[in-house]
Amino acid sequence: MQSEPLSLLREQAYINGQWLSGQTRSAVCNPASGQLLAEVADLDAQDTRAAIAAAHAALPAWQALSAKQRATILLRWHALILQHQQQLADLISQEQGKPLAESLGEIAYGASYLEWFAEEGKRAYGEVIPSPFADKRLLTIRQGIGVVAAITPWNFPHAMITRKVAPALAAGCSVVLKPAAETPLSALALAALAEQAGLPAGVFNVVTGTDAAAIGGELTASPQVRKLSFTGSTAVGKLLMRQCADTVKKLGLELGGNAPFIVFDDADLDAAVQGALFAKFRNSGQTCVCANRLLVQDSIYTAFAEKLATAVAALQVGPASEPGMQQGPLISPAAVAKVQRHIANAVSLGAKVLTGGAAHARGGHFFQPTVLADVTEQMQVAQEETFGPLAPLIRFHDEAEAIRLANSGESGLAAYFYSRDIGRCWRVAEAIEAGMVGINEGAISTEVAPFGGIKQSGLGREGSRHGLEDFMEIKYLCFGGL
Ligand code: ADP
Repeated sequence: MQSEPLSLLREQAYINGQWLSGQTRSAVCNPASGQLLAEVADLDAQDTRAAIAAAHAALPAWQALSAKQRATILLRWHALILQHQQQLADLISQEQGKPLAESLGEIAYGASYLEWFAEEGKRAYGEVIPSPFADKRLLTIRQGIGVVAAITPWNFPHAMITRKVAPALAAGCSVVLKPAAETPLSALALAALAEQAGLPAGVFNVVTGTDAAAIGGELTASPQVRKLSFTGSTAVGKLLMRQCADTVKKLGLELGGNAPFIVFDDADLDAAVQGALFAKFRNSGQTCVCANRLLVQDSIYTAFAEKLATAVAALQVGPASEPGMQQGPLISPAAVAKVQRHIANAVSLGAKVLTGGAAHARGGHFFQPTVLADVTEQMQVAQEETFGPLAPLIRFHDEAEAIRLANSGESGLAAYFYSRDIGRCWRVAEAIEAGMVGINEGAISTEVAPFGGIKQSGLGREGSRHGLEDFMEIKYLCFGGL
């Protein structure tokens, strides 16, 4: 391993161990300033086919390695990421806009998947099934599913990649990754470190490009691709699911949420405010597990609203280049427009702005962290994922109403609630329709626990021992003629 840090800025795509310029290039800009950061290869359907072919060709040799041999390479990659964490975090902040402390957190979180799955890959046990036949012995083995296509979003430009690629590679799969066009630099930096770590050519390929439909079309149509792992919007997830039907691919989908955050009257209010700040305002509200609706019980509604509005008003808004900033810009003008639309709709129907409510004086994509009171379930903000720094407060009377409100709608990714009553904690945890529940806790993500949703929030789980299973098939072996 080299001791001098590499420069990790890459503008070329990475296919079959080669850096490719492509026919055209597309601009990557800093959302905080609009500044041009790089011009990245803009690949097309034909390049995507080449990447799939490379991944397919690399598969047999990669599968033939032992899990321990694959782990050695993944752990080297992990070490290189940590060695370059400052530079990688800078890249995230520049192309995505989040504060540097959050970017460093993302690198630690993202790297943890490589370490976890390098180890977990060694534990892909089969089973010996007690045979009902005297002359037969039955057992199962687990094998990597084959070539995996991964399509990732811009909100976590590093961690959403490692969360898919680490289990895939550990399972013996090869990968074609299409990162979001807004944030390809973190993906290419990861490829540069994978190359350094000694990952064989073709095992991990990065297809950068702006024509997502063309690249996605190739990935989903290819019979060689055996699994699609996607994180992004519910609409695109449904489209990709349809496209995968013709080749009957296995699917991992992490789609949108509309997370409820419930504060019961017996909650520790200060803890609930801290939890809400994290669960709502991390990454300026741009995470799929962000609290989208804050449900607050009658008797503590006013006290909680005041405490939250005071804390939100104190958040420091600005570019990652300035120290101490807690809220970066939103990713695009469209993202800002959606927050504005939700506020206008809510206010027109009777909601009140407690703090924020408008574009920030810093201009560009910066928006004031906002708290709205007197929100009702009919308002857009309660029904759609805002994906921005807007906390709407909805009042409820009792536990049954809180659960009814929490479970309304088609999403079921994350949910949070605060209560000190152990009976209520169990009842609500069991009744809530979500794949992940934070109980007196706003920060739930870790590589050791299963991340994923129910209902229309997705299929499958990432992280934990279940995250490996999603990239493996069970093969049943029947030995006869004993
Ligand atoms: P967001 O609204 O967060 O950008 P998207 O679902 O549009 O969510 O994007 C998530 C990922 O899906 C990105 O990498 C994007 O380029 C990709 N994507 C968008 N549309 C398609 C499509 N039609 N086919 C394949 N990938 C797509």
